[in-house]
Amino acid sequence: KMQAEEYNRRGKELVDYITQYLGSIRERRVIPDVKPGYMKELLPDTAPTEPEDWETIFNDIEKVVMPGVVHWQSPHMHAYYPSLTSWPSMLGDMLADAINCVGFTWASSPACTELEMNVMDWLCKALGLPSFFLHQHPDSRGGGILQSTVSESTLVALLAARKDKILQLRAELDQEVDDSVLNSRLVAYASDQAHSSVEKAGLISLVKIRFLPTDEQLSLRGDTLKQAIQEDRRMGLVPFMLCATLGTTGVCAFDKLSELGPVCAEEGLWLHVDAAYAGSAYFCPELRWSLEGIDFAHSFVFNPSKWMMVHFDCTAFWVKDKYKLQQTFSVDPVYLRHENSQAATDFMHWQIPLSRRFRSLKLWFVMRSFGLKNLQAHIRHGIEMAKLLESHIRRDPNFEVPAARHLGLVVFCLKGGNALTQELLRRLTRSGTMYLIPADIHTTRIIRFTVTSQFTTADDILKDWGIISKTASTLLAETQGPNNSDQSKAGEDDVMEAEENQDPNSDTRSDEKEDAASMLDKAQVELWIDKAWNRSRRPMRSLSCNSEPLPYTYVGPLSGYDFDTRPALKDGAGALPTPSTPASSPLTKVTEMPSNLLGKQVLKKLTKFYSVPSFCNQWVQCGRHPLCCPLKVSQAAQKHLSSTCRRMNCMSSSPIANTAPSPTPLETATAPKLL
Ligand SMILES: *Cc1c(COP(=O)(O)O)cnc(C)c1O
Repeated sequence: KMQAEEYNRRGKELVDYITQYLGSIRERRVIPDVKPGYMKELLPDTAPTEPEDWETIFNDIEKVVMPGVVHWQSPHMHAYYPSLTSWPSMLGDMLADAINCVGFTWASSPACTELEMNVMDWLCKALGLPSFFLHQHPDSRGGGILQSTVSESTLVALLAARKDKILQLRAELDQEVDDSVLNSRLVAYASDQAHSSVEKAGLISLVKIRFLPTDEQLSLRGDTLKQAIQEDRRMGLVPFMLCATLGTTGVCAFDKLSELGPVCAEEGLWLHVDAAYAGSAYFCPELRWSLEGIDFAHSFVFNPSKWMMVHFDCTAFWVKDKYKLQQTFSVDPVYLRHENSQAATDFMHWQIPLSRRFRSLKLWFVMRSFGLKNLQAHIRHGIEMAKLLESHIRRDPNFEVPAARHLGLVVFCLKGGNALTQELLRRLTRSGTMYLIPADIHTTRIIRFTVTSQFTTADDILKDWGIISKTASTLLAETQGPNNSDQSKAGEDDVMEAEENQDPNSDTRSDEKEDAASMLDKAQVELWIDKAWNRSRRPMRSLSCNSEPLPYTYVGPLSGYDFDTRPALKDGAGALPTPSTPASSPLTKVTEMPSNLLGKQVLKKLTKFYSVPSFCNQWVQCGRHPLCCPLKVSQAAQKHLSSTCRRMNCMSSSPIANTAPSPTPLETATAPKLL
């Protein structure tokens, strides 16, 4: 087995290999040319019993791993958002990996906590964020912490906001009500451009999230939020949070914080700001215009692991009031107490897991080794490169830029329509020379081009553009025969259906003999429709997850509804069809309960708006938490429960009705008072 001497030698060799890999990454095909399962035949079925020498292991890097790697550090990687690394960042983790402390409390490794607090304060100041996010500031109750991902941070923010609102409601109510009852009344907001992680946070916490429409710039506006809040209060819901996005994943749109902030403040909503990608841009003062209104934020998150060249994982999350995190996440077992428990910061109370890595080392190394000056230069260079590409696209009559370029993201499409744009993307992807992904703006298919690498040069951009424009002209020449005008839209569904029924292998085979490019006629162009992408017809919300709300969870587990025979989800608007339940099912009554109480109208509205309905209203709102799984409840118990429910007169108007607009007569009639 490996000894220290060999580690020292091999370590240096591996550093050589890494330097060589990253130094010549431009020459590698960005997208691997492998099929699912490719690795199986390259590896033995079981782990070796006898130790293998390092030479053998090392040689397998190029044989087994590299053929299946997408080279995210390549200057020709333009998909998603950047996921950059850098030399000082890698050195930071090399050290962190060696120390490998688990810094859950201050005492478990004081340097781990203290470096993180100091570096998070540096970062907060460098981005021009409010001073209430600082650990070390006389008037601040806040602070920053490194979390694993933005997704997790958004969940953390939602859980803290939820806890805060539930405590507030409990204090206002004059009777004992279970938290789950209050939970079922909560509603949070995000724009219809928000990342899928917002939806996921709602799914996990059983909190309703309402995705609000955006303006022509795909930004969420204050009036839209205000109106939604009023509607929801009238329905007896309790708005408690907005997740605003600065730099959406689709087109890098910015929600209008300067309008949203005051609405959140007036209405008592926790304002969480997701600036996953765009956050790095705030190193540059001239790019801070979208931060106007940030003073209203309760929490802010961005990913240094995206554009800032601190490699994954590294997510910077700030909260204005740390006690609201601690009241959400604090547990206090004896074995984690230490004599400085009162005076010191224990980050275990700020996050979901207990253990945490020493992530701040790489952030510290990067900030010092680059200096703010070079971090700014890196951001500005990326934007210049994006502008360069944009100028070329705008000059080409075949192309269109359907949404404003923001930061390092340019989106474009062919003027010839969605099918052509999609075919162009397919050809570029198959060439492996660059990695691009699609998105939708309403009904327009676009291709996203993100400038990523710190090493991207104007030549790299021009090379990519050369390939894109040439591929497009070839494609257009092929399709510009007679009889080739735009039927693309009309036939789409038929084509998709036909494709769906095809043997997937025959599909690939026909792909492979594509060499006779001239053979590609319009029909074929129409044929290529990314199935996964087209399944959902509503405006794209997320690139990382093609998530459709899960309508069946609304009644699914309660209704005995057969999941396998559910109708295909055709509705693209995110509506929540309520599947009919067999009348014989003993649980039918359960699903009917809420509609009786709320009135069919209201229920219909609810199921339309909210992608994450909470669990069965009846059980929850009776506060009978342990009986929430009705499949395990005996019929007798059910009977008992329903009558209890009726006695308690479960549904009510908003517990904070005094601040809500007065309900209409209809709503008063259908939503009797309880609480
Ligand atoms: C990338 C991105 C995320 C997801 O970040 P993770 O750290 O992978 O969870 C969330 N929101 C936006 C706007 C993003 O661009």
